[in-house]
Amino acid sequence: MQTEFDHIVVGGGSAGCAVAARLAEQPGARVCVIEAGPSDRNIRVKVPFGLVNLLGSDRRNWKRKTMPMASAGGRQVSVPRGKMLGGSGSINSMVWFRGTRADFDAWGLPGWDADTVWAAYDEIEARMTPTRLPHPHPLSEAFGAMFAANDPHAPPTPERESAGVFHTNMRRGARWSAADGFLRPSGATVITDAEVDHVTFEGIRATGVALRSGRHLTARSGVILSAGSIESPMILMRSGIGPADDLRRAGIEVRIDAPGVGANLHDHPGFGLHFKGQGSGYGLTLGQLPAWALSPFKWMLARSGRLSSNTVEAGAFYALDGDTPEIQTHFMPFLMGWQGRAIIWGSGYFADVCLCQPRSRGRLRIGADRYAPLIDLNLFGDESDLDQMTQAVGKLRSLLDAADFGTRRAPEAFPGTHVTGEALREVIKTRAGTAYHPVGTVALGGPLDATGALKGAQNLWAADASVMPRITSANTNAPSMMIGWQIGGFVAQATWSDQRNIA
Ligand SMILES: Cc1cc2nc3c(=O)[nH]c(=O)nc-3n(C[C@H](O)[C@H](O)[C@H](O)COP(=O)(O)OP(=O)(O)OC[C@H]3O[C@@H](n4cnc5c(N)ncnc54)[C@H](O)[C@@H]3O)c2cc1C
Repeated sequence: MQTEFDHIVVGGGSAGCAVAARLAEQPGARVCVIEAGPSDRNIRVKVPFGLVNLLGSDRRNWKRKTMPMASAGGRQVSVPRGKMLGGSGSINSMVWFRGTRADFDAWGLPGWDADTVWAAYDEIEARMTPTRLPHPHPLSEAFGAMFAANDPHAPPTPERESAGVFHTNMRRGARWSAADGFLRPSGATVITDAEVDHVTFEGIRATGVALRSGRHLTARSGVILSAGSIESPMILMRSGIGPADDLRRAGIEVRIDAPGVGANLHDHPGFGLHFKGQGSGYGLTLGQLPAWALSPFKWMLARSGRLSSNTVEAGAFYALDGDTPEIQTHFMPFLMGWQGRAIIWGSGYFADVCLCQPRSRGRLRIGADRYAPLIDLNLFGDESDLDQMTQAVGKLRSLLDAADFGTRRAPEAFPGTHVTGEALREVIKTRAGTAYHPVGTVALGGPLDATGALKGAQNLWAADASVMPRITSANTNAPSMMIGWQIGGFVAQATWSDQRNIA
């Protein structure tokens, strides 16, 4: 097996696939993608509704958890991360958002202004072709029509108050991830089921990677970490790059003291309202059993039916004060469990509130077990996040009241409309999770320069959601691909315009 390449991309996820495709555009480039998980060629990955099953998978999900967080009632919160080609983009809901133009201008970094980023999105969308979810439930259509001024066929946008059925990266009714749009057409060498332990160095120059299996692979021109917001900082720390005191405590020799590695961890906090009532959304009822039984055939023959649902079918952005939306809501026409039981009988629907720009910041550290990240999201560490979430639930309730759900309307089963004010604030604090969008742990302008290169090292870059200095105001999959594409371009430029690397 080949062990020497020009570039090694660690992680075949949303960003890593885009990095690989960009690098492989160079004639003769030898690019290798190393992925800890298996291939994504699996029916549960392709069927949109399959993500419900994948969330429970030990083989295809890293299944990380936060540490108990005092700021969230002493709880641990789950941090699912995809572990296969396509990464988290192989277990996600495929909802497609760029973020806002102001998100990128606020980064204030050369090469990342809104105009440049928007041009990159145009290139990405030519490959990913996001389109309106083809068969939304009538409740999702009604939810999406909430704001009268809306074009019912346009997706909602975080730029202004808006609602709509989501646009998703599906093709012919099946998941179309970055592995399909970027990696497979690229011709890059792909090694699956191979977990990178650390980056190898000569002095400060990255020379390749060491796998957990003990094998070594060489990268003549550089290593790009695209292992995601949880694992990229862990690989750096295992390589001796991180906060010096933490590394010493974990028994790791310090190569570069980089206090910003693992810092600035943040995510969109999310809290859901559950509605339950007969004749409402999808669920487990005697009347719906035949439809569930037929659903695999409907999907196979016509790519329709409930298995064609990505679960999160519609949503909205709305403002609490002023015109700029502070809140995103996701709507699912499904009865979801809220009492910790896997199976719940009945039918209903679900809508959540997520803060577009949370203020709380947490931190990820390495501990005695170098493969088990200590994740402190510090959810609601800044209490203004909790205040906004509480206010947002009130507004969501009135938006839902005004939606034209007709006979499918169901009463709020959790937390219940009687829960308001301080009591609601407490329920949010003790029950909220996240939208599964962790970012920021190896930030551009922090440990990285604006091209994604690690400060103090040579031939080492990071390119994934971890590099976002501040989260985008909606779901983070498209931004992760855009980041991979852009940093892949910077790496190509640094490599093939630099004579040292061509010799
Ligand atoms: C359940 C869920 C639902 C979501 N829904 C949406 C949605 O609908 N829309 C949206 O925009 N966003 C959504 N997201 C978020 C979005 O999918 C992520 O932000 C995005 O995929 C992050 O991309 P990434 O490249 O940073 O990391 P990932 O896509 O997670 O890729 C990292 C890859 O690196 C691999 N890896 C990690 N460590 C190693 C190692 N040591 N060696 C080798 N390989 C390694 C991983 O296995 C993985 O394949 C969701 C996320 C989840 C988990």
